[in-house]
Amino acid sequence: MNSPYQLIGERFESEQVQSVLAIYAAGSEAPLCEPGSGAVLGMMMFDIGWGIKRPVGGMQALSDALAACLRHHGGEARPASPVEQVLVDGAGRACGVRLEDGEELRARQVIGALDPYTLIGLIEYDLVPEQTRRELDVMRVNGWNVNNTKIDVALERRPDLLCERPELWGSYMLLGPGVDYVERAIATAMRGEIPTETPMSAMMPTSADRTQLPTGSGGDSLHLFCTSVPHELADGRRWADHRAGARGAGDRVRRGVRPRDPRRRDRLMGKKPR
Ligand SMILES: Cc1cc2nc3c(=O)[nH]c(=O)nc-3n(C[C@H](O)[C@H](O)[C@H](O)COP(=O)(O)OP(=O)(O)OC[C@H]3O[C@@H](n4cnc5c(N)ncnc54)[C@H](O)[C@@H]3O)c2cc1C
Repeated sequence: MNSPYQLIGERFESEQVQSVLAIYAAGSEAPLCEPGSGAVLGMMMFDIGWGIKRPVGGMQALSDALAACLRHHGGEARPASPVEQVLVDGAGRACGVRLEDGEELRARQVIGALDPYTLIGLIEYDLVPEQTRRELDVMRVNGWNVNNTKIDVALERRPDLLCERPELWGSYMLLGPGVDYVERAIATAMRGEIPTETPMSAMMPTSADRTQLPTGSGGDSLHLFCTSVPHELADGRRWADHRAGARGAGDRVRRGVRPRDPRRRDRLMGKKPR
């Protein structure tokens, strides 16, 4: 399989289409020239063919429905009870968990729905089969130091769009001016620096689902997904000391929506980088 860079350059001529595809591919958390990662562009077919769907009420509605289903069948969900260790019996079989507060729960089956690195931290290392340990040792996660930032913005009113097509607020928008721009942002993130400009996608789920807003609100919620930020900062700097970097990305998007009427500049009520 080719790299996104090859696929985009070989098969598309329009600079606008190339730009959109590069922004989309940047979500793979690898440089555009990474061999084999062109497959990420295939996901776009699902977005277009099936559309992007969210539960009515927002993503929390899905977790709430799952918890309600569990309770309906006699189960109990304890979301504020972190597991400290998976307990193992003399035959090497998981037989329960110990919670951080010391409580022990015994069970016939233990299901770890965690990423493998976190799960392995909850098990006595010597009990993990050697083959599994070897596979985990060579698995690369964030190997290019490129990650994503999501920023949730609460807006008092719906902003105007620069292209004057308000219907686009109901769509999945990819924002960024060109392939070079995407490559620069990824290269900057790989060096452990926060890019001054990062490609991003924007969605406004409240344009389709007003149940996500407080009753009577005329506002909107805007989700910004910035695709090229460093996973770890260079020179031992900590993300906690650089919240301004994420806030800066949000501010740049605000400038992309036109404050035609200066009296409407109070649109932004709050934002929460993650
Ligand atoms: C930036 C980003 C963007 C993504 N975008 C998409 C997308 O657009 N579409 C898509 O389909 N997928 C997307 N994904 C992938 C998707 O989010 C994951 O595949 C999915 O969330 C995995 O679900 P999970 O339940 O297996 O694991 P998780 O969601 O990781 O759930 C594991 C849970 O275990 C909890 N936990 C951890 N340690 C403990 C402990 N010791 N005790 C108790 N609980 C613990 C965690 O808090 C967490 O709630 C994206 C992922 C990322 C990171």
